[in-house]
Amino acid sequence: MFLKGKSAIVTGSTSGIGLAYAKALAAEGASVMINGFGDAAAIETERAALEATTGAKALYDAADMSKPDQIAAMVARAAQELGGVDILISNAGIQHVAPIDEFPIEKWDAILAINLSSTFHLMRAAIPLMKARNWGRIITTASAHSLVASPNKAAYVAAKHGIAGLTKTAALEVATHGITVNCISPGYVWTPLVENQIPDTMKTRGLTREQVINDVLLDAQPTKQFVQPEQVAALALFLCRDDAAAITGANYSMDGGWTAA
Ligand code: NAD
Repeated sequence: MFLKGKSAIVTGSTSGIGLAYAKALAAEGASVMINGFGDAAAIETERAALEATTGAKALYDAADMSKPDQIAAMVARAAQELGGVDILISNAGIQHVAPIDEFPIEKWDAILAINLSSTFHLMRAAIPLMKARNWGRIITTASAHSLVASPNKAAYVAAKHGIAGLTKTAALEVATHGITVNCISPGYVWTPLVENQIPDTMKTRGLTREQVINDVLLDAQPTKQFVQPEQVAALALFLCRDDAAAITGANYSMDGGWTAA
């Protein structure tokens, strides 16, 4: 339990990759603040299960990642109720699929706010807490789309390329403070985010569900396998180790070979 005594915030952790991160951190003894939307009873069940894992504290905060004041309040609450923010995983994200000339302006604004600007606001609030302890781990869930593009995902690709640049900048700024800042860039991970974009892709490209899965999603992934949320979480856990203290400003692909092509 190498994270006993450490406190973590994982945004967008009521589902998918974020929930896998929270489970992995709690299993190593960290107190965890989970965040995201969803059914209140289901969230409480997950929160209680995290706490039961190791006895470390688990809290839920409903902060909306498109609202800077709610983000700052969540970080302040973690500092007060968990005793600090040693580990910050900025992971909340949404997707919308449409060509640029039909892309709804409010979807562009929401994706940029949630997938990119929230990470800036989180870092801005948490970095002073980490500097005070001369230790910190910041991990951002970017995407293969932080490195390459796909059609019809203008906002998502722009936000994820932005995350890659923001992560590198932050890494340079805090390099002498014992804080590392890295991206993990998964390919297609089987989560609700991927599941939910299948109907739109079926519509925009005129394909069946099976064609979207095999010919669009896994077409990009040479392994022809979805990445598993637990595999992403295992890499994040490694980045939290002292063995990873020299890894900063990196963008780790976990995409079944997608960006090697
Ligand atoms: P998901 O839909 O399962 O989970 C997204 C989480 O973000 C949920 O907990 C949701 O409630 C939360 N969320 C959404 N809007 C929010 C808001 N305004 N404020 C707070 N929380 C909010 O998706 P996922 O696949 O687990 O995605 C997690 C991250 O991984 C995202 O940043 C996504 O872009 C990235 N990613 C996913 C894949 C994939 O294939 N699934 C691949 C690469 C990167």
